[in-house]
Amino acid sequence: MSGVKLLPLWRFWLVAGLVAFQILLLAVSHDRPVLNCMGVFFILAFAVSIYRSPDFDFLLYAATCRRLPGRGFVLRFKVRLVEKKALQTYADFCQREYDDLVRLFGFSLRHQVSIYLFGSANEIKRITRTLYDLPCDGKFKITIQAALPHSACVHPDTDAILMPVDEEFQTTVRHELAHLFARRIGPEDFLFKCEGLAMWVEYQGQSPRLSDHAISVLKEMKTLESFLDDTLFFAPSTCYASYEIARSFAGFLIERFGWATYCGFYKHAKHGKFLAAFEEAFSMTLADAEALWREDIGSEPKSDACIS
Ligand SMILES: [Zn+2]
Repeated sequence: MSGVKLLPLWRFWLVAGLVAFQILLLAVSHDRPVLNCMGVFFILAFAVSIYRSPDFDFLLYAATCRRLPGRGFVLRFKVRLVEKKALQTYADFCQREYDDLVRLFGFSLRHQVSIYLFGSANEIKRITRTLYDLPCDGKFKITIQAALPHSACVHPDTDAILMPVDEEFQTTVRHELAHLFARRIGPEDFLFKCEGLAMWVEYQGQSPRLSDHAISVLKEMKTLESFLDDTLFFAPSTCYASYEIARSFAGFLIERFGWATYCGFYKHAKHGKFLAAFEEAFSMTLADAEALWREDIGSEPKSDACIS
């Protein structure tokens, strides 16, 4: 399974299993029933834990995939899933987007990306088990990346992209690849920042008007600073709008201050330092930039009068 790193949990239980095996050998060779029982217990725990791990089905799926290598990525698929001709089309989409992002970001990814093809978003959900459903542990960020507005995701512990084969394949793979490229610029803190850039890349720098829903959410949230709270960003009532707003604001910053300045900001905007990094990079506060952006998009300035 080259291209898929073994997961930390898997590694832990691999070590535990090896230790258990040593205990068992020791117990058998010295005829020690207590150690013997311990060995059996640990081996059973090892097997059950791996089976119950959310990664088990995915690793099993990954192990039985065929591969079609490209430059910088490898497409992994089940033969039953896609015809040979269609497969080449998906590989061409991936190559085109990967090469385009190399030009945009100015570097390649350090590792070959595995792009797994699935029959549907539901299949990804079934095979990754809890990947989509973990609410707020360490995988929260990736979980929400996985959910909207795309059904694809970047696997939290690998550089793999999990893609349903559907009509939005090309734009979705561009979005998910953008996340991997952006990881090399700066940390994945703040969904507002990460999804803003990924969406802007997905839309190829175009700035479509915000939908009415996004405008009304914007008024409700009062300030862009509210979107720095990941839970609010992804609240069911606002998440679609959050992606739109983040995309629009990222586009505004890139157009106004340039790609290099934006990347400098992206690099330094870590937890607890977003506002300071923003001010340092753009020489203005988030609130001041927001006022200019609102003028640009034609949204009313924030005031109590417009929150009704
Ligand atoms: Zn995303």
